Amino acid sequence: MLTSKLDKHITIIGAGLVGSLMSIYLGQRGYKVTVYEKLPDIRKESIPAGRSINLALANRGIRPLQQVGIMDKVKNLLIPMKGRMLHDIDGKLQFQSYGQKPEEVIYSVSRSGLVSLLRDEAEATGNVTFHFKHKLIDVDFDENQLTVNNWINDTTEQHNFDILLATDGAGSKVRRIREDRDMGDFSAELLEHHYKELTIPAGENGNYLIEKEALHIWPRGGYMLIALPNLEGDFTVTLFMPKDNSKHNEISFEQLTTHESVNNFFQTQFNDAYQLIPNLSQMFFDNPTGILGTVRSKQWHYKDTLLFGDAAHAVVPFHGQGMNCGFEDCAELNALLNKFDDDWQQVMPAFTEARRDNANAIADMALENYIEMRDSVRDPKFHLKKAISFELEKKFPLQFIPRYSMVMFHHIPYAEAKSRGLLQANILQQLSDGIESTEQLDWQLANNLVEQQLSTLSREYLQ
Ligand SMILES: Cc1cc2nc3c(=O)[nH]c(=O)nc-3n(C[C@H](O)[C@H](O)[C@H](O)COP(=O)(O)OP(=O)(O)OC[C@H]3O[C@@H](n4cnc5c(N)ncnc54)[C@H](O)[C@@H]3O)c2cc1C
Repeated sequence: MLTSKLDKHITIIGAGLVGSLMSIYLGQRGYKVTVYEKLPDIRKESIPAGRSINLALANRGIRPLQQVGIMDKVKNLLIPMKGRMLHDIDGKLQFQSYGQKPEEVIYSVSRSGLVSLLRDEAEATGNVTFHFKHKLIDVDFDENQLTVNNWINDTTEQHNFDILLATDGAGSKVRRIREDRDMGDFSAELLEHHYKELTIPAGENGNYLIEKEALHIWPRGGYMLIALPNLEGDFTVTLFMPKDNSKHNEISFEQLTTHESVNNFFQTQFNDAYQLIPNLSQMFFDNPTGILGTVRSKQWHYKDTLLFGDAAHAVVPFHGQGMNCGFEDCAELNALLNKFDDDWQQVMPAFTEARRDNANAIADMALENYIEMRDSVRDPKFHLKKAISFELEKKFPLQFIPRYSMVMFHHIPYAEAKSRGLLQANILQQLSDGIESTEQLDWQLANNLVEQQLSTLSREYLQ
């Protein structure tokens, strides 16, 4: 009897954003999928959303949601953010558009709302079964067997798998087991900055107390505060700053140890936000301080197992791309299953090859973007370069696309966006030298630089 390749049973570890989306793709392909998740089901029990309450969704994340046919439902969860609203120390506002076309916006989405929808849609395929409160504790890569701790009845279970997909996040247990047993080359680098989430509540009638359709930033050089809108009228506010003063003379979390120091700090640095956050210092001490880091993996597959999402490539959140990149992983894996007719032995190495350099590139760009958000946005030269880059994009739409737009609004592979971004930064440096406005732009020089240095982009990458 002929057995179908789809007879392979797929086991996924981690029902976060990426594991839940991948289970939809696989369920729709006809695979039987079992997902083990260590936490309770957020659809049934109220638990903290985890790493961040809301996130920015952009085009790379939207396309996979369209592919699995759920974008109409996701739309109900979204708030468009058209640009950055910069708050200076005196509370003066400056709006900077992200793109120059009406569709060039990013969207704020609730993590718990999105993950709940993804799980509903996975179950609706009829092929996906979730086991919550099941924590993976070990994997036998030779015998294709995994061990989970079922903390509903405090038992340890062993299960066999055909293919194991590890989407268990930045601290991935599967990755750590492989690392301990010398089954791959990984690096994890913690950022010296930590983060803390706070809330600007909705106004009395559920209205938004600051501009709704923007990502707010209070850039202060060595640190920053940001805020993203939620559907209920409130904003999730995040403070990013150094953990301690070992490498900086700036203020750090280590110094904010009393209500007085927290209140003073916010009052002096972010007074307009401070006025909108009741009980700020209490919230500051009640909420956990989060850590951030970058994970890089050389070989994402090993025997019948594959790491992806944050498990393979956690990035710092300053380009708003961790989830978007993980969703792009899912689309790529699905495309390779199509290409290789569900032959996982070909798919897995091809997947590593397709994604690794791109994941490393977005990791680098995300680190760079922290400097841009917390510091460069305050520099008039930054605004001039941005204005020039919009002019160049209008004149050379297939050659010059601002780097932020390449990452957020198009499907240009991250590694290509990064290398083109370097060439473009050079061009912008030359064109902005000695001028103060786009009217003074030397178009002859612009033409020469673009034609000499930037190849034509493939239309398939453009939105
Ligand atoms: C402050 C902050 C802001 C961010 N903002 C953005 C943004 O604006 N846009 C964006 O695209 N990305 C953003 N990100 C990144 C984004 O959160 C991640 O990239 C995304 O959550 C990765 O999804 P994942 O499914 O790979 O991992 P996770 O979402 O971490 O999910 C992993 C799942 O695995 C489960 N798990 C872990 N260990 C085990 C185990 N042993 N057994 C079973 N289950 C296990 C976990 O409980 C979890 O449910 C942000 C991150 C942070 C920290």
